[in-house]
Amino acid sequence: MVPSTLMSANLLGELAAVLPPEGVVTDADVLESHRRDQASWAEAGMPRVLVRPGSTQEVQAVLRVASAHRVPVVARGAGSGLTGGANAVEGGIVLSLSRMNRILELDRRGLFAVVQPGVINAAVKAAAAEHGLWYSPDPASWEFSSIGGNLATNAGGLCCVKYGVTGDSVLGLEAVLADGSVVRTGGRTHKNVAGYDLTRLFVGSEGTLGIITEATLRLRPRPPPATTLVASFPTLVAAGAAVTEIMTGTRPSLLELMDRATVRAVEAHRPMGLDVDAAALLLARSDAGGDQGVAECARMAAACESAGATFIAQSGDEAEGELLMGARRLAYPALERQGSTLLDDVGVPLSRIVDLLAAVERIAEQRGVLIGTFGHAGDGNMHPTLVFDRNDPDAVARAQAAFDDILRVVDEMGGTITGEHGVGMLKRPYLARQLGPESTRIHMAIKATLDPLGILNPGKLL
Ligand SMILES: Cc1cc2nc3c(=O)[nH]c(=O)nc-3n(C[C@H](O)[C@H](O)[C@H](O)COP(=O)(O)OP(=O)(O)OC[C@H]3O[C@@H](n4cnc5c(N)ncnc54)[C@H](O)[C@@H]3O)c2cc1C
Repeated sequence: MVPSTLMSANLLGELAAVLPPEGVVTDADVLESHRRDQASWAEAGMPRVLVRPGSTQEVQAVLRVASAHRVPVVARGAGSGLTGGANAVEGGIVLSLSRMNRILELDRRGLFAVVQPGVINAAVKAAAAEHGLWYSPDPASWEFSSIGGNLATNAGGLCCVKYGVTGDSVLGLEAVLADGSVVRTGGRTHKNVAGYDLTRLFVGSEGTLGIITEATLRLRPRPPPATTLVASFPTLVAAGAAVTEIMTGTRPSLLELMDRATVRAVEAHRPMGLDVDAAALLLARSDAGGDQGVAECARMAAACESAGATFIAQSGDEAEGELLMGARRLAYPALERQGSTLLDDVGVPLSRIVDLLAAVERIAEQRGVLIGTFGHAGDGNMHPTLVFDRNDPDAVARAQAAFDDILRVVDEMGGTITGEHGVGMLKRPYLARQLGPESTRIHMAIKATLDPLGILNPGKLL
């Protein structure tokens, strides 16, 4: 058997031989800053080395070395994940895509862009806007999360209620497999049904099947300026009823909910004059434009009114609308300032959104835990966020029990343990229950085929 220090020296030497000097980092402070994502609750190991390849060929070379040494490799985008998905494995390699951050091509008439994975979502939006186009996926982290991370988690966002999640805006991918081979999937066409949908297989695979090294993204014409509607409700359940009503009668371009605890946290963090006494606020948007936009907003306002809204206002002013969206994007960071957090990302069928909100309120009361609930109500995808004192073992136990309770009721409602953040480490213990034995077996078989040594992001997802 080779002594581990010798193996480690060989590993570092071999990586140094295939990467430029700035591509191999062993500085302890830098390793520390690349150990974990934003899920403070998930475990993280100390990596042996951080590699920063600058091309697909360098990613291939890293994976060949890792395979030869059987060393775990954790892909890292911007590290904004909320499940521990990018957390390092003890003694392993963290592979940062941050140097692969170029937009390679933008075809205005073909409505697509070819990008490297380390490009920040906002940069793709900005490049598309220069051509009068739009890249629609907009996780609340769009200003700092990477396209590779968005693809690997199949990130959702605020406008996916109308335009779909990240996976709905990807036409093709390039990925490097664990053995260093390269696979190209899909293409540049907006329709493509040739063979199994391997693009979709890599989307949402959380770095467990391959490293995404290039993506062809779908662009769209920019929609007309949006009208934003805000409504306050006396109960959470009334707000949920408005959501169901809106979704069955209109096509909002955004439909977000924040409960009282969340609104208060946002106001405490950055005062904006939001209604802190309402049980819930709904933010809705129509980007249909013209008469259709006016009619859509009128129907959404009527739905809020019939569900019992106590206040409804509309604005076509872009700056005002952005201010409200800014409040919504602050929801999680604001709750994080109130204590330790455990963030759920559950999804239920739209017909069960009222039941979900009622169940979360009940669980908060039964377990004596503060839960701030916000999220993409129009998708049935909510983020009940448990806020507690990490230094109080009783509070930690009650928060963990409430987290489990929420996942159990969601399962009973035919919902999902994750609507957009991914499984990562936090939801891993609950995945098999949702998938069932056959689907779990197929997952394992796919993993074993693409990553037979199990070096890609072990301990995550499966
Ligand atoms: C304030 C805030 C708001 C957020 N809002 C949303 C939201 O609205 N919707 C939403 O879906 N998420 C949201 N998130 C979560 C997070 O931003 C997303 O999951 C995002 O897609 C992660 O991108 P990243 O570049 O930071 O990836 P990372 O956190 O670095 O990685 C995420 C996962 O992808 C893998 N990965 C990264 N790059 C690659 C690659 N090139 N190839 C293969 N695997 C790779 C990693 O191994 C890991 O498993 C939010 C996070 C924060 C902090």
